[in-house]
Amino acid sequence: MTALPLRTSTELDAMRAAGRVVADTLQAVRAAAVPGVRLRELDELAQTVIRDAGALPSFLGYRPVWAPTPFNGALCLSPNEIVVHGRPNGRRLRDGDLLSIDCGAIADGWHGDSAVTVHVGADPDDDDLRLMTATELALGAGIAAAVPGATLLDVATAVDAVARAHGFTHLPDHGGHGIGREMHEAPFVPNEPTRDAARHRLHAGNTIAIEPMLHAGTGRYRTKKDGWSIAMVDGKRAAHFEHTVAITDDGPEVLTATSP
Ligand code: MG
Ligand code: MG
Repeated sequence: MTALPLRTSTELDAMRAAGRVVADTLQAVRAAAVPGVRLRELDELAQTVIRDAGALPSFLGYRPVWAPTPFNGALCLSPNEIVVHGRPNGRRLRDGDLLSIDCGAIADGWHGDSAVTVHVGADPDDDDLRLMTATELALGAGIAAAVPGATLLDVATAVDAVARAHGFTHLPDHGGHGIGREMHEAPFVPNEPTRDAARHRLHAGNTIAIEPMLHAGTGRYRTKKDGWSIAMVDGKRAAHFEHTVAITDDGPEVLTATSP
């Protein structure tokens, strides 16, 4: 059994502040995601919102070991068959696009990380709506399972049950993570049951990011030539929802929730 770090109440306050910046940024960006707008323009908006709040964009310049280049923006912007890690570029949004928006911010050295999938333009068709709804429900189920005494296996099982019930597949090899002083901390938070997940028991004070990525097709993916964007091989659409969550004695607290 591996223990996740316990955050003090002061540290949780700092993570609430970071989470609020991320939530406010996502709210501004989703409102601006209309046909004709370039992905790069959405990223500029995000950088402005984050910096005006006194925070820093955590994705900008981020370079994991597998990446050929540092990331070029504050947002991962992933349209349609791109699931995650899409780079902000000159592509213009089109009516009917399904856009996943992932945002991370650092406030006072603490991280928040959250993602939403939005439909661009007129009402989504039934397939898109089902995919978005199932992914958001899967996230909700995972969050609800993140209580003291549960393990990451309980979280993964809850996420997976919703995905299966709606007939969607996961993006393999991808999932959530611990979060705090670093955006990506151990342990891996899987979206499907794994043997390792049972080794991680949750306690009040732990903080994790839960992030189902669901797909309407086979789940096979490839990395595009830019070295970042992860695209579904069959070209079918994907959705991604994520929240940063604190485990508390009063139940899970979503640190990246949009204020009412
Ligand atoms: Mg994220
Ligand atoms: Mg994340």
